[in-house]
Amino acid sequence: MCKKIKKTYQPNNQTSSQSHFDEAKKVLVGGVNSPVRAFKSVDSSPIFMSHGQGAHIFSEDGRQYIDYVLAYGPHLLGHVHPSITKAIQQASSKGTALGAPTTAETTLAKWIQKFYPGIEKIRFVNSGTEATMSAIRLARGVTKRDKIIKFDGCYHGHVDSLLVKTGSGGLTLGQPDSGGIPETIANNTISIPYNDIEAFKEVMSLHGETIAGVIIEPVAGNMGTITPKEGFLEALADTCQKNKSLLIFDEVMIGFRSGIQSIQAKKNIKADITCLGKVMGGGLPCGAFGGSEKIMSHLAPDGEIYQAGTLSGNPICTAAGIAMLYKLTDENIYKKLEKTMNTLVDGIKEIIKKYNAPIQIQHYGTMFTIFFSDKTVQNLNDAKNCDLEAFKKFHKHMINKGIYMAPSQYESAFISTEHNDLTNQETIDAIEEFLQNGFKK
Ligand code: PLP
Repeated sequence: MCKKIKKTYQPNNQTSSQSHFDEAKKVLVGGVNSPVRAFKSVDSSPIFMSHGQGAHIFSEDGRQYIDYVLAYGPHLLGHVHPSITKAIQQASSKGTALGAPTTAETTLAKWIQKFYPGIEKIRFVNSGTEATMSAIRLARGVTKRDKIIKFDGCYHGHVDSLLVKTGSGGLTLGQPDSGGIPETIANNTISIPYNDIEAFKEVMSLHGETIAGVIIEPVAGNMGTITPKEGFLEALADTCQKNKSLLIFDEVMIGFRSGIQSIQAKKNIKADITCLGKVMGGGLPCGAFGGSEKIMSHLAPDGEIYQAGTLSGNPICTAAGIAMLYKLTDENIYKKLEKTMNTLVDGIKEIIKKYNAPIQIQHYGTMFTIFFSDKTVQNLNDAKNCDLEAFKKFHKHMINKGIYMAPSQYESAFISTEHNDLTNQETIDAIEEFLQNGFKK
């Protein structure tokens, strides 16, 4: 039986958030430490949060929200999960960083192998960006080639060579290509429409011999949730193999999100390098990349490609990661997540149908996006053609109803094990109210 948490907020009172933001802007660039948090794309200003608990997040001005942002992904077990909190407390009491190997790093690596048996060797880093950046260097070093292929709207962190036609914050702010990146670097990146097998094959037929690696979000999450077309990932794997280019799956967002079997196992595809982050660090700054022994042994200290980190594999992140993955190996967790997700998606679909609204809900595992579009969104162009003005109104409405969603049409929403029938119903009711009030194209 789900217990309803009493709402304690004064609806629509954002006064104190505004004054916190004004203060923040005096010392922090744009008042934030990651651009999307500024709420610019919804013509609003951010809500300053004080704490999270389970499926909820609480603002400095005393409002409670159902949290579908979940720190942009990591909190698959909800905020302040007791096992993770305990692991962090215990680890931190023994030293926050030791600058020497610890057995916990080996343990976490073994837990990751339960989900990714293809990863024979792994290296821990401090963020998803570090994972993809290092994976690109590794691919270039191993193949002795320079060019990289990515896909329009995929975001792989703020790596110079990957900030080309990017998704997430860059796309949200209308800056899919960043300033400060030398042309010589950007020129080595080729970006292709997501889900376009023909375009990919054509580029590979022209440039295959120069392509070091092909990096992709196997399910895109940073232009909203977009699943790969049937056969798309298989075609990438096959073509990469023929051209001796390394296939890099950026699973920073989708890793651990849809069951004990990764998408690679489900589709019987083995990426040459897999990048991980978010969930695997239990909400702490952590990332990883891994692959076969043959490829990974090119990294220092075994090989010639340098990669390092003062705090990499630090005991607190490692402990949080172990606590998280240990929980996730319980199949019941994923059964519960699947049930919650399906109930939410079905409920939203029903009201979309009831109001004949030009809206799509697309989901994968525990992530979803509500697109203001009258057709399925399959790539960046489709995502850009969404009704962004409608999304802004929707976002504002949901915030007013106590439902915290990312301030961009191009982000994915996330659920946790702490979301339940009650949070689902509140969300569905809020969406219905929005549609009742006359949203129609
Ligand atoms: N790759 C993907 C698919 C991501 O979604 C993100 C972040 O959202 C990153 C890489 C970068 O991770 P981080 O923000 O931890 O550097």
